[in-house]
Amino acid sequence: SADQSLIIGAMEYKEKRVKDVMTSLEQCFMLDKSMRLNFQAMLAVYKSGFTRIPVYSGDKQNIEGILYAKDLILIDPDDEVEIGAVLSFRGRNVFHISEDVTLDKVFKVFMTSANHLLIAHRGSFDENASQSEIAAGEVTGLITLEDVIEQLIQAEIVDE
Ligand code: ADP
Repeated sequence: SADQSLIIGAMEYKEKRVKDVMTSLEQCFMLDKSMRLNFQAMLAVYKSGFTRIPVYSGDKQNIEGILYAKDLILIDPDDEVEIGAVLSFRGRNVFHISEDVTLDKVFKVFMTSANHLLIAHRGSFDENASQSEIAAGEVTGLITLEDVIEQLIQAEIVDE
């Protein structure tokens, strides 16, 4: 039953780690910051259906910002502005986490920061590791609050 699933999920999620539930790098929809937001690019963002899109510079290991699909409503595709320009106008911080962190700790991060998408990196770090130390490890994926909640309730959330 749903009640049993919740109890099992709550017991298991302390043992589960970011890497067990994250979206792996190959599956991540990301864009290069030099890309111009013409109609074609806007259509690609729209079709992806994602709310938050990591933006990299040259290489997917080099994530520099997060593009919010909702910020695109102010943009005229005829202007063909670079994604990088949107980021400097409307910067959204990138937050990094080790893929080895357990989900109870990730949940706390989500509850205490306004950030609901974290970039996952290879490597174990102690509790006091800085964001730049974690970010130096290889990027392996991303995790959102939804990934943690799905583990907790032991079910897929059907997206709109
Ligand atoms: P959204 O609001 O964009 O639908 P959610 O936070 O609801 O994102 O997450 C839904 C699922 O999509 C999760 O499994 C999450 O890891 C994944 N996800 C979120 N953003 C991206 C992205 N840019 N590329 C690939 N997967 C993503």
